[in-house]
Amino acid sequence: MAEVLVFVDHADGAVRKPTLELLTLARRLGDPVAVAVGAGAAATAGVLAEHGAVKVLTHEAAEYADYLVVPKVDALQAAVAAVSPVAVLVSSSAEGKEVAARLALRIGSGVITDAVDVEAGEQGPVATQSVFAAGFTTKSRVSKGVAVITVKPNSAAVEAAAAAGTVEELAVTFSEQATGTKVTARTPRESTGRPELTEAAVVVSGGRGVGGAESFAVIEALADSLGAAVGASRAAVDAGWYPHTAQVGQTGKSVSPQLYIASGVSGAIQHRAGMQTSKTIVAINKDAEAPIFDLVDYGVVGDLFDVVPQLTEEINTR
Ligand code: FAD
Repeated sequence: MAEVLVFVDHADGAVRKPTLELLTLARRLGDPVAVAVGAGAAATAGVLAEHGAVKVLTHEAAEYADYLVVPKVDALQAAVAAVSPVAVLVSSSAEGKEVAARLALRIGSGVITDAVDVEAGEQGPVATQSVFAAGFTTKSRVSKGVAVITVKPNSAAVEAAAAAGTVEELAVTFSEQATGTKVTARTPRESTGRPELTEAAVVVSGGRGVGGAESFAVIEALADSLGAAVGASRAAVDAGWYPHTAQVGQTGKSVSPQLYIASGVSGAIQHRAGMQTSKTIVAINKDAEAPIFDLVDYGVVGDLFDVVPQLTEEINTR
């Protein structure tokens, strides 16, 4: 059976959920072979085997320590040469997309980014993308070389499947570029204790209807009751009520959670572009004619300051 490379996203051996989603999708295309690099790479093997990895190629080296991209590209290139896969799947983070693009260039392949689904096709893997502000769904395939595809987090439900997960050391020769860059300073962002927006299973967003920075506490309280990430519309971000890193939409982040709750968001096309592929969409808006109601699974017409606290209280009592 054909082999499919899955690039593992992990923190010191703890595998992140988007990688398990990639393994689930990879099994539709062939036998998943995971590539894990950096400190703790070998420790990822157990969980990867439980999710269908027939083989885990690992490589630990100091070069990976500073979150630099090129050493990872070197490793993936070595894995492609060793395995000759039908596809390489990478998670659609900012880093993942850079790794995928550089890899595709190196190996002379086409790259498809931000796929929301992947399936086997007669002429190779077919990726589904949501494009033009989510107005269209396209299916594409790479017509040259190995298909390099980045997949948005939360695009697939994780399914466990036991496989051998045989660990093999990957031989990597670092390129000149890998050692040509050094991290000179690092400023950690203050942690909110909430999940990362693009990976969260639940996102609670606030828009202009929230009315001010302090009022975002109402949105945060609902998010915390659900273990959710907080998102914001551009109007809320531009007003300085919430950080730019939380912006959802065409010029913000693209999210695809199981549940997206929009409060005081009108549903402009540019906002939809970043959340339309969410599995279940709920909106709370006091205007029954707001465009967001055209796309919701559940809508509540009401003042968010009445509805959201009641919702939070109800969830907290369960
Ligand atoms: P509004 O459109 O003003 O809607 C506020 C909503 O809140 C209204 O529907 C109102 O009925 C409701 N409301 C008010 N008070 C309450 C209350 N008390 N209770 C309940 N409901 C209430 N926007 C993005 O979000 N993300 C992007 O990435 C983005 N990129 C853009 C890129 C370009 C090139 C351009 C031109 C625009 C972009 N925009 C983006 C802006 C976008 O067009 C909208 O202006 C923006 O999404 C509106 O934000 P909003 O829904 O919060 O505000």
